[in-house]
Amino acid sequence: MNFTEKLGAGAPTLSFELFPPKRPDGWATLYATLSEISRLKPDLVSVTYGAGGSTREKTIDIVTRLKDELEIDAMAHITCVNHSRDEIDVILNRLRDSRIRYILALRGDPQEKGIFRKAENGFGYAYELIRYINFRYKFITGCATYPEKHIESESIEKDIEYLKLKQDTGAKFAITQLFFINDNFYRFRELAVRAGVSIPIIAGLMPVIDISQIERFRNLCGCIIPDDLINRLTKYPDRVVDIGIEYSLNQCLDLLKNGVCGLHFFTLNRSYSVVKIVSDLRNNGYLLS
Ligand SMILES: Cc1cc2nc3c(=O)[nH]c(=O)nc-3n(C[C@H](O)[C@H](O)[C@H](O)COP(=O)(O)OP(=O)(O)OC[C@H]3O[C@@H](n4cnc5c(N)ncnc54)[C@H](O)[C@@H]3O)c2cc1C
Repeated sequence: MNFTEKLGAGAPTLSFELFPPKRPDGWATLYATLSEISRLKPDLVSVTYGAGGSTREKTIDIVTRLKDELEIDAMAHITCVNHSRDEIDVILNRLRDSRIRYILALRGDPQEKGIFRKAENGFGYAYELIRYINFRYKFITGCATYPEKHIESESIEKDIEYLKLKQDTGAKFAITQLFFINDNFYRFRELAVRAGVSIPIIAGLMPVIDISQIERFRNLCGCIIPDDLINRLTKYPDRVVDIGIEYSLNQCLDLLKNGVCGLHFFTLNRSYSVVKIVSDLRNNGYLLS
C-alpha cells in the first residue's frame, strides 16, 4: 500500500522530513541520512521549502531524486512567502513534469517581526494556496496544523476553524507541528473531529538530539516541553540523545495505541535517533512495513 492507500485504510503511515542543506558540507549528511532512512521503507519523505534564495531550487531537485533514484514517494513543501501566482505556477509545473504527486501547501513564517506580508498577486493564507492548487492541478495536497496552537493564532478553536477551511479547499491530510505531550494532540484531534474535520491528522515528532534545541523549539513553534523531560535532559547532558530516543519512542507507542493516522519525523537531516525508534517499533510489531 502506498501513503494514500494506507491513510484511506487507516493503517499508520511513516514519513520523514528533510531540509535542503544551506552549506556545501551539509550534503554529505543529507545523503547519509537518506541512505539510512530509505532502508526503513518510509511511505513518504518530504522536503521543506526555505524562506528564499537558492535552497528553494534544491527542494525540487531533492524530491525529484528521491522519486527517480531511490523510488520513494516524495512530497515537496511550498510556501506563499514572496511568491506571486505566476511564480507558484512555475514551481508547480516543474513538480508536475517531474511526476511528483504530493505537496504540503503552507503559508510560511512571517518575513519580519511576526508580520506576514502577502506578495503582490500572491496568497495570504495556506488555504488560498491549497484552493489554487486544487483548482488548477492534480496533486495530492496536505497542510500543516497545530495541536498546541499556532504561535500567531488567537485560540485552538480558531486553528481548528482554519484546518477545516484547508480541508474544505482540498487538503487531503494534515501534519501537525511537533509536540511532546500526546494528551494535547488527543484533545485537539477530538475537537477537530467535532468541528467536522475528517481528513487524517498525522503526528509530527522530533526526538531531541541537542539540549540547545529546547529553547529554539519553544520560540520558533511555541511547542510545550514537559518539565520532566527538560529536567532529565539538563541533569544528564551526556545522555541527551538516548533520553530523546526513549521519550519519542514512548510517545510513538502511545500514539499508535490511540489510533494515530501516521508518524511524521522532523529529522533535521539526522538519522540515528529515528532509525532506532522506527526499528524498535517495527521489531516489536507496532508499526508494519
Ligand atoms: C508539518 C509542517 C511543515 C512545515 N514546513 C515548512 C516549510 O517547509 N517551510 C516553511 O517556511 N515553513 C514550514 N512550516 C511552518 C509554517 O510555514 C508556519 O507555521 C507558518 O507560520 C504557518 O503556516 P500555515 O501553512 O499553517 O499557515 P496558515 O494556515 O495560513 O495560518 C497562518 C496563520 O494565519 C491564521 N489563519 C489561517 N487562516 C486564516 C483565515 N482564513 N483568517 C484569519 N486567520 C487565518 C492561523 O491561525 C495562523 O496563525 C511547517 C509547519 C509544519 C507544521
